[in-house]
Amino acid sequence: MQHIGLFGGTFNPIHTGHLRIAAEIKEHFSLDRIIFIPTGIPPHKGDSEVIDPAHRLHMAELAVAPYKDFSVSPVEAERKGFSYSIDTVKFFQRELGDTAELYFILGIDAFLEIKTWKDTDELLTLCHFIVIPRPGYRFSDLKGLDIPPLNRLESTELDKLDKGEIIRLSIKLTGRYHLFLERITPCDISSTGLRVLIKEGSEVKNLLPESVLLYIMRKRLYH
Ligand code: ATP
Repeated sequence: MQHIGLFGGTFNPIHTGHLRIAAEIKEHFSLDRIIFIPTGIPPHKGDSEVIDPAHRLHMAELAVAPYKDFSVSPVEAERKGFSYSIDTVKFFQRELGDTAELYFILGIDAFLEIKTWKDTDELLTLCHFIVIPRPGYRFSDLKGLDIPPLNRLESTELDKLDKGEIIRLSIKLTGRYHLFLERITPCDISSTGLRVLIKEGSEVKNLLPESVLLYIMRKRLYH
């Protein structure tokens, strides 16, 4: 059985935070590999700042090139119209068959929106979910989410996670999969912040891979 992480995102652009998250989660869960999945036209980011999927896909490919267990899938970027996570998970289930156990990786900020996604209840029965912290968000923010096993949880458990007294909460979902709330090293990088720095011409050297920065400069993206 292969254990595979699915890491979706706008990746506008991909940054060092994304790579660090993937590396740490791969290690914590002994995953065999991680597939980065840049969105096409994202259903939740209606802003015009999201650049052409082809550029975001290419930057993701440049970023993961040095990592043998990381790859990039064009499945969402090349799909016409909106990309829905449920379609993506079903795509990988068809593609990989029963030999793969899938882990959908996302930040607290993204998970807080999950009830607005297409067919959330079904989506949560299709694979494992790993939710990671992000500066500005706390695991205890998840208490208000109307997801049955989560809303029955003692809030002291979420507080313990926020304080670092425990590093993982493993919550059995209604199907056969788990929702893992996982503490990892905090990383305060965001694509939004990066775009502002690039526009200002500020130093961004360690915030994204050099190959990605060169591509951005060459194509004059985000300027
Ligand atoms: P933006 O600033 O445009 O919202 P972003 O930095 O959040 O972009 P995305 O491509 O939207 O990047 O993120 C992909 C996934 O990675 C999301 O699930 C998001 O929560 C998570 N993520 C991104 N940056 C971080 C970070 N610094 N710490 C934890 N999670 C992060």
